Amino acid sequence: MNIFALAVIAVKCMCGFKIKRLGDPYFIHYLYRCEPNAKLMEILSIGNSVLNLFFPRRCLNCDSVISSDNPLCVSCAAELPYTHWNADKKNQAYRKLKPLCTVSFAHSLLFFKHDNVTQKLLHFLKYHGHLSIGRLLADKTSETVNLSNFDGIIPVPVHPKKLKKRGYNQVIPYAETLAKNAGIPLINDFLIRVENNPSQVHKNREKRLNSIKNAFGLKHEKLKGNFILVDDVLTSGATLSTCANLIVSSTDSKIAVMTIACTV
Ligand SMILES: [Zn+2]
Repeated sequence: MNIFALAVIAVKCMCGFKIKRLGDPYFIHYLYRCEPNAKLMEILSIGNSVLNLFFPRRCLNCDSVISSDNPLCVSCAAELPYTHWNADKKNQAYRKLKPLCTVSFAHSLLFFKHDNVTQKLLHFLKYHGHLSIGRLLADKTSETVNLSNFDGIIPVPVHPKKLKKRGYNQVIPYAETLAKNAGIPLINDFLIRVENNPSQVHKNREKRLNSIKNAFGLKHEKLKGNFILVDDVLTSGATLSTCANLIVSSTDSKIAVMTIACTV
């Protein structure tokens, strides 16, 4: 990539996206499907430092001014509602999924409740391009859960139309960092979304299962091994169980599930 292309991308970013998104130079990596470039990172970091003078970085939960690169201030970070499920194999995530599909293991890092700090973080990750949140929470997950024995990580995909509109799949930063920390591949081109279903937020589990049962497809059926299916939030389990059932029934594979958060 030459310096002209870098400048064009930087100008497009400045013009097309909210200032807050520039707080995460890696946003460009997901937006333009290109590897982070050292020169570009340097340009964006300098731009970001200047912007910080006029728009100080703030805690995403309590809005207090902060100086670190973390999305939360020290006191809000200390209040993150960790599940500590790494030592509990029959945890709530596993019990939610067990009636719906066969999973070897399930884990969520945080509890998700209406208006809690987890909900705010995932909202900024999903809708405002704060992709560093995904990477940070993957690092937290990797501190207590060893994934190195798995054969790869499969992120739950979003439909191409949604991908085009949002610019990125919010699950990728988390899944990619988990894979990197464990030294296993990210398998991002295997599970595909073939139906663009409307939001499932206000549906019960039965309606969610019905509306999503044909929403996913596989690129091929040659996958073999133990894989981790990754999503941002485990709610009813409809999405994750649909994906797990499709993979297990079509390939010679076992599936474990990992999510950033789980509703309580
Ligand atoms: Zn705070």
